[in-house]
Amino acid sequence: MTASSTTTVTPSDVVGQARRRRSFAVISHPDAGKSTLTEALALHARVIAEAGAVHGKAGRQGVVSDWMAMERARGISITSAALQFYYRDAVINLLDTPGHADFSEDTYRVLSAVDSAVMLLDAAKGLEPQTLKLFDVCRHRDIPVLTFVNKWDRPGREALELCDELVERIGLQPMPLTWPVGAAGHFRGVLDLTDGAFVRYQRTAGGATVAPEERIDPARAEAEAGEDWARAREEAELLTASGGQFAPEAFHTATATPVLFGAAVLNFGVRHLLDLLVDLAPQPAPRLDVDGHPRPLDAPFSAFVFKVQTGMDPAHRDQVAFARVCSGVFERGMVVTNASTGRPFATKYAHQVFGQQRSTVDTAYPGDVVGLVNASALRVGDTLHAGRPAVRFPGLPSFAPAHFAVARPADLSRSKQFRKGVDQLASEGVVQILTSDLRGHAAPVFAAVGPMQFEVAAHRLEHEFSAPVRLDRLPYTAVRRLADPAQRPIVDGARRGEVLTRTDGTDLALFEDEMAMRILQRQHPDLALEPLLAEGA
Ligand code: GDP
Repeated sequence: MTASSTTTVTPSDVVGQARRRRSFAVISHPDAGKSTLTEALALHARVIAEAGAVHGKAGRQGVVSDWMAMERARGISITSAALQFYYRDAVINLLDTPGHADFSEDTYRVLSAVDSAVMLLDAAKGLEPQTLKLFDVCRHRDIPVLTFVNKWDRPGREALELCDELVERIGLQPMPLTWPVGAAGHFRGVLDLTDGAFVRYQRTAGGATVAPEERIDPARAEAEAGEDWARAREEAELLTASGGQFAPEAFHTATATPVLFGAAVLNFGVRHLLDLLVDLAPQPAPRLDVDGHPRPLDAPFSAFVFKVQTGMDPAHRDQVAFARVCSGVFERGMVVTNASTGRPFATKYAHQVFGQQRSTVDTAYPGDVVGLVNASALRVGDTLHAGRPAVRFPGLPSFAPAHFAVARPADLSRSKQFRKGVDQLASEGVVQILTSDLRGHAAPVFAAVGPMQFEVAAHRLEHEFSAPVRLDRLPYTAVRRLADPAQRPIVDGARRGEVLTRTDGTDLALFEDEMAMRILQRQHPDLALEPLLAEGA
């Protein structure tokens, strides 16, 4: 199929298809159960991507990719893409977020491509640091968040206490839709707050199949679940009386979060989550362009690149750009324009990628993610479009880096290749590049959200540009935006701080610790330092 071929999809089909889409990501701390939940969701659904993309427990490796030896050695996943499946009449796109403590800017960027997020909490731990950081990004972007309290089959905290934590720590009103029957560790089922029924769960061997549910009407529930039932009703009433009554608008405006309780490993509560996504989670909406005008869903094809990945397949040194469709229909083979360069890009190879699995995508609609292969000309934040009118979406924000290292070519005779490589990494958003006149520009500072980004950068400089790098870590842990460039000398003059300029022109004031920053602010009360997006919580 080529761009010139006529499409049979009408604008109303596009809107209808967009309406069926639910594109979301799971935000969680490592070990909360994201991989387990992903598998459980897929078990309930009809996975569209090639069968085998997601395996049961025995085949856990199926959802873990291994594009670099480094990654293999550590058994972690750096790659992230989307899993697509049908549930009821909906098409669900679950965008994967790298799931290691060393997460990177990619994790944040995925959130620019979703319409909602599922905040997954471990019932014994509640809100954890990485969840808080990701929640910050959701809040900044007004992304509606659903909460799934996981591992209720194990001893954990009180349900009311977990709900209180949401209000107290992040100012998010919990609106439970189910309430657990039985304390954490004695999970019998849930009270379905939409109709007052007792949904009793039954274990299956190893949680390998969809857990059977039995709906018991309230009149019989007491006899079946006794004390646990009475307690569940009392607790749920307490919460609904204090503002926890379900209100869809409050969810959509991201001021409140629907809460469900479950155990992903046993498939308990997973069907509720899917139903909630289909019934209530937002569908793709027209995206605002750089001038703030919405691009209608039925306008010609447009998409933006939220992630670029190189070398996923070591046998073919390819580069895959992941783009989220914003309007129109994507048809494989169409020629699109890259709004940043004005150049055409032929989409001959378009894939759906999840972990190691790829399957060819022929058509995609707003909300879907396509992986464009051989995309060395595409950068994170680029807009792609076809037809008229043209469109350009705002670029993706940079996030507050937390790790810094001075980068020098290990071999000075490779300085030219080194500079070229650094420019490339910066344009792809692999690391942020900071410089200052004081340091000189031959040795830029790499800045990253997670230290894993340094390893990826070093690996690529060595293997793609034959320019091995020496990285010397800097001791900075506190970072702010310096609002007034004229105040630069104040920070540069401080003993434990300096100002570096990022390639996007932002001046970052870096300090060894918060204390050093506060001392300087006390000495210079007019010093204007502003928080950066997604600062560590
Ligand atoms: P991730 O790091 O968030 O992807 O977490 P995983 O899905 O790998 O889960 C971490 C551990 O928690 C694994 O040992 C899972 O078997 C376990 N786990 C996940 N969900 C549940 C659950 O609902 N109940 C119990 N008891 N364990 C769970």
